[in-house]
Amino acid sequence: MPILQLPDTLINQIAAGEVVERPASVVKELVENAVDAGADRIDIDLEEGGVRLIRVRDNGSGIAPDELPLAVSRHATSKIGSLDDLETVATMGFRGEALPSIASVSRFVLASRRGDDGHGSALPVEGGRVGAVEPRQHPPGTTVEVRDLFYNVPARRKFLRAERTELGHIEEWLRSLALARPDVELRISHNGKPTRRYKGGTELFSDDRLHETLGPEFAKHALRVDHAAAGLRLHGWIAQPAYSRASADQQYLYVNRRPVRDRSVAHAVRQAFGDVMYHGRQPAYVLFLDLDPARVDVNVHPAKHEVRFRDTRLVHDFVYRTLHEALADTRAGSQVAPAF
Ligand code: ADP
Ligand code: MG
Repeated sequence: MPILQLPDTLINQIAAGEVVERPASVVKELVENAVDAGADRIDIDLEEGGVRLIRVRDNGSGIAPDELPLAVSRHATSKIGSLDDLETVATMGFRGEALPSIASVSRFVLASRRGDDGHGSALPVEGGRVGAVEPRQHPPGTTVEVRDLFYNVPARRKFLRAERTELGHIEEWLRSLALARPDVELRISHNGKPTRRYKGGTELFSDDRLHETLGPEFAKHALRVDHAAAGLRLHGWIAQPAYSRASADQQYLYVNRRPVRDRSVAHAVRQAFGDVMYHGRQPAYVLFLDLDPARVDVNVHPAKHEVRFRDTRLVHDFVYRTLHEALADTRAGSQVAPAF
């Protein structure tokens, strides 16, 4: 077969394989865009676990009408302009891939209005075929509507799980965002019924938000952590060992406010809890690790679930020592029995 340059739509559909795994990944990308646009209120409407519809509306900066086509084209971003910018990037996004990827595997509409513009506009995209920008009533901010996810990618659709399961993934991701962004109000509805509301307007470290997201039991057992050394800061909450869990379902780690999974940090946490927790039990925690963005590479994975630290050992030992210290009081007695 001769070598052919693939058409854009196909390139986007291939890229979508990495960025868009399931409805929850779409919600993640759209809500992160809303946060990056400075929104402090985001409405998320879902139908059928997000497969039928995901609509994310924000009150952020909005997009100029003539930039709508750019927003849905590949590698177009307003968030970085050079490799240097990548070293200090503070936004959740920067790869300029999410919208074109999502729009290539769904029936998609991007509608927006900047505060100063008299009217809004909208751009429909169907399975990657970009339509024409048209005027549309819209309050300041942006709405992205994603219908019939994977309607044109049967192989992907097959992997979608039951409505409940997909909804569960979405809710879990929103919970992790809500913990990191208590300043943002989130309203979630499913099949026309409001299901969840995070109030917003509070600052990081708000016990209210902890209560809202993880419930009264976690909040009751929470120990505050806040320690800084060597340009690293670790803050948040760990639950006292009495509140240990059977599974790792309440372990939230953020690096510069970005929710991530990291083996080395997870190991440090486990080690710190090692001698205060029964074998087989899992600690519960919400931890924010902040450091100079130049000391951590966030461009490791298209979905940015992982990061790479310049100095893994230092980070590991810092986390271990901070938590070991925080748990000192609970260690004074003997092992604490699990509460359930
Ligand atoms: P990235 O977030 O990596 O820049 P995306 O494909 O997610 O890439 O979005 C492309 C661009 O579209 C963004 O850089 C931004 O300028 C614009 N954009 C997307 N969503 C929003 C939004 N909710 N509000 C304002 N601008 C947005
Ligand atoms: Mg984005």
